[in-house]
Amino acid sequence: MEVTLIAITRLEGEVVDDKLGYGWISSVPEGGYPKDTEALIEYAGRLCYQSWEKKNPATQKNADYIAHIISQGHLSVLEHSSASLYVEGVSRSLLAELTRHRHLSFSVISQRYCSPENVPVIPPAIQEDLELTSALLTRYQEMKGWYDSLVFDLTKKGLPRKQAREAARSVLPNMTPVELVVTGNFRAWREVIARRIDPSADAEIQQFAQMALTALSETSPSVFADML
Ligand SMILES: Cc1cc2nc3c(=O)[nH]c(=O)nc-3n(C[C@H](O)[C@H](O)[C@H](O)COP(=O)(O)OP(=O)(O)OC[C@H]3O[C@@H](n4cnc5c(N)ncnc54)[C@H](O)[C@@H]3O)c2cc1C
Repeated sequence: MEVTLIAITRLEGEVVDDKLGYGWISSVPEGGYPKDTEALIEYAGRLCYQSWEKKNPATQKNADYIAHIISQGHLSVLEHSSASLYVEGVSRSLLAELTRHRHLSFSVISQRYCSPENVPVIPPAIQEDLELTSALLTRYQEMKGWYDSLVFDLTKKGLPRKQAREAARSVLPNMTPVELVVTGNFRAWREVIARRIDPSADAEIQQFAQMALTALSETSPSVFADML
């Protein structure tokens, strides 16, 4: 499995400074510059009470301000920042679970336009067991062979490849690999990660949640580091 951050909210700092009439963004705040995603969250939060002067010493630093917002459950301000992840080598099972989260947005490789990869996704519980892994690889090759012959037979009958693939995919197992782009705002990502990193969740999606958390906390530590 690979999880790569490919897009993240960018703040137009100069525009923000211009609107406020002074260098709120461009002046170095205590604690150093926050990331754009984090500055935007603070900007949106401070707008509510026009608290630009940061009179409360406990929330002068961006990280403290965001920690306070999270502790207060004022989570709607987290929705202004978002991130997109490019995810490779996950199973259809993971896809089915992840797409249950209604605040994430998805683009997923089409099984009607693209043939499946030759290598399946081995579940974490089986990866350490070479014998079982080898058995799964063999079964997958059998299914894939069946899929290929169905596509061949159906196209020979005159079906366009898209329709041949959509019928043939019925034999593909849950371990078939999937490629996707998934986007979420930071409130949604926190919600999804909290649910899916839990030991009660499926082992593969736990790994995904851990990797998503690592990627997001590297880029926006004030928003995600408390979940590490
Ligand atoms: C360990 C685990 C096991 C699971 N097992 C199963 C299973 O066996 N079968 C199964 O079908 N699913 C299962 N699920 C999926 C689960 O039921 C949810 O579909 C999934 O976790 C998405 O969460 P969600 O629906 O709370 O919220 P999301 O879609 O992620 O939305 C986030 C939050 O927004 C709010 N929200 C979103 N949509 C609405 C709405 N329409 N109305 C009101 N509030 C809304 C809710 O507060 C929600 O918690 C499992 C999930 C986990 C983590």
